[in-house]
Amino acid sequence: MTKKCLGVDSLSGDRCKRPANSGSDFCFMHKPQEGDARIAYLEHDIYHCPDDGQQLLFVPDQGSYRCDMCGGVLMSAKDIDSEVLEGILELPEVIEEGLSVECPTCSSDNDLSDGETALTNFAVEWYFWIRTSKYTADIYQCGVSNVGHCTVCGSTWFAGPGEFDALGRTLGKNTTRVWRKQFRRLGKKKRLWGISGDIRRAIRTKNTFGVQEQSLLRQARLAGVKTATERKWKEAASRSDNLCNHVDDNGKMCDFRKSTKSTHDQDYCYKHQPK
Ligand SMILES: [Zn+2]
Ligand SMILES: [Zn+2]
Ligand SMILES: [Zn+2]
Ligand SMILES: [Zn+2]
Repeated sequence: MTKKCLGVDSLSGDRCKRPANSGSDFCFMHKPQEGDARIAYLEHDIYHCPDDGQQLLFVPDQGSYRCDMCGGVLMSAKDIDSEVLEGILELPEVIEEGLSVECPTCSSDNDLSDGETALTNFAVEWYFWIRTSKYTADIYQCGVSNVGHCTVCGSTWFAGPGEFDALGRTLGKNTTRVWRKQFRRLGKKKRLWGISGDIRRAIRTKNTFGVQEQSLLRQARLAGVKTATERKWKEAASRSDNLCNHVDDNGKMCDFRKSTKSTHDQDYCYKHQPK
């Protein structure tokens, strides 16, 4: 009897159904997975989405796990790009009452930790372009989502982006592709647009998770929200935006959390309450 290939299909996350090549545990297509020790233990290393409980699927080419329900992505300390992680850890921390996300790695049944560990959350901006046609403008979609880092095991959980972008437009099938799109852009020097005042400016960058890049993305998102006249756009944006709306004279956005005090204007932090 021929042995079945141990490889994993990168789309479905299932084991390959082809026979293995003779003298190998893999078929010709999955030969590149041969060096990945995790492949053999997939049925043992089972992780669940901390937001919807769905079992996460292994993505062989990236070494990450993904949730096909919400678009969340889990990366181990070893698999995440170190520049990406450094950038994220410098972003403003999200401190929200009732926001507690368990680390998917620590809460799975393994030896890394005995208890459950809550992630430290950061607000991370994302964006992508949708090609329309040769004659019409591409569509820019952007938003901000929580990215949680576990200080115990070093895993990072990129929470799913939700159903809508910052302007309330549906993400549709891109919901499960948002983070993949950001990772795929890494290492490619491309233009990144920001808006300050009425001036659009661009930098060329390989990594959109850096502090400067994130602040450009944030400006672009908030500018889009400001010029949007429809109220529902604003509502959708404010739900996903936890930071103060204040802009100082130099065009710098305030990095403090919005105040949650009932006597405060909750679009601003405690320091920038409108007089
Ligand atoms: Zn195979
Ligand atoms: Zn999920
Ligand atoms: Zn952990
Ligand atoms: Zn402020």
